[in-house]
Amino acid sequence: MKIVAPSQAMQQWSRQVAQQHVLVPTMGALHEGHAALIRRAREIADPSATVVVSIFVNPIQFGVNEDLSCYPRTLAADVALCEKENVDFLFYPTVEEMYAADASVRISETQLSQRLCGASRPGHFSGMATVVAKLFNIVAPNIAIFGEKDWQQLAIIRRFVHDLNFPIEIIGHPTVREKDGLAMSSRNAYLTPEKRAVAPKIYQALQAVAAARATGEKNIAILLMAARMALEDIPGAMIDYIEIMNEETLAPLSEISENSKPRLFVAVKLGETRLIDNIALHAS
Ligand code: AMP
Repeated sequence: MKIVAPSQAMQQWSRQVAQQHVLVPTMGALHEGHAALIRRAREIADPSATVVVSIFVNPIQFGVNEDLSCYPRTLAADVALCEKENVDFLFYPTVEEMYAADASVRISETQLSQRLCGASRPGHFSGMATVVAKLFNIVAPNIAIFGEKDWQQLAIIRRFVHDLNFPIEIIGHPTVREKDGLAMSSRNAYLTPEKRAVAPKIYQALQAVAAARATGEKNIAILLMAARMALEDIPGAMIDYIEIMNEETLAPLSEISENSKPRLFVAVKLGETRLIDNIALHAS
């Protein structure tokens, strides 16, 4: 595996090498969820394809009171995981070279990013889309893989690639969970043992709502209320949002019909740690 820091070197390589490249963008502190994305990259790519993992804790997607300075950084373990998963390139740029002091261009998506995490974290998705545009230009992948855990991010990236004509196929990978159902996340490391013990109740709440939907409940207010009651039952949980949206447009739904593709989205704070999760409320 080659570890490349300067973006110029990475960009030069990506323009020279003819075979397919698959990019898995991350912020590091890699876990089994990231490993699953990397394995998926290998599975779907041509046998000769190059798998590139980027690790960059992107400062412009963090709000002023967010966890940028304490975001977990575990480079040695990340390198070991990438080696084990047969990654070809680990792209690990510095903040200084990703953002010139006079950088003044940002990408902003104006619809899908307005609600859910976009409402709670102003500027987050613009920062995210800007860094993804830069990574796409540097690595020039044919395929990029993102996790469904961050469903809104994935939806915004799909829209952005479509609207800006990036010739890149975007693949979404299902959420990888701990055995007890908690969605894997680098931020789970912040949870105290007490909060970690109750954190799986978030997914249990989502599953209960999906089960109610599967048995025929169509009333959005009732489904939202069921989610709220289950989440409010979690000791110490502060609910940020609970919403049922069309999973493609991220428009809120007032009723469930055959084509409304409902998905339940939640964000919950357990202590200082903000956790997000989502589940489909439709059969396929
Ligand atoms: P992050 O390092 O948290 O920014 O995540 C990098 C990529 O990994 C994003 O596309 C995430 O959606 C994805 N990811 C993170 N956690 C999981 C998970 N538990 N299951 C699937 N994908 C994940």
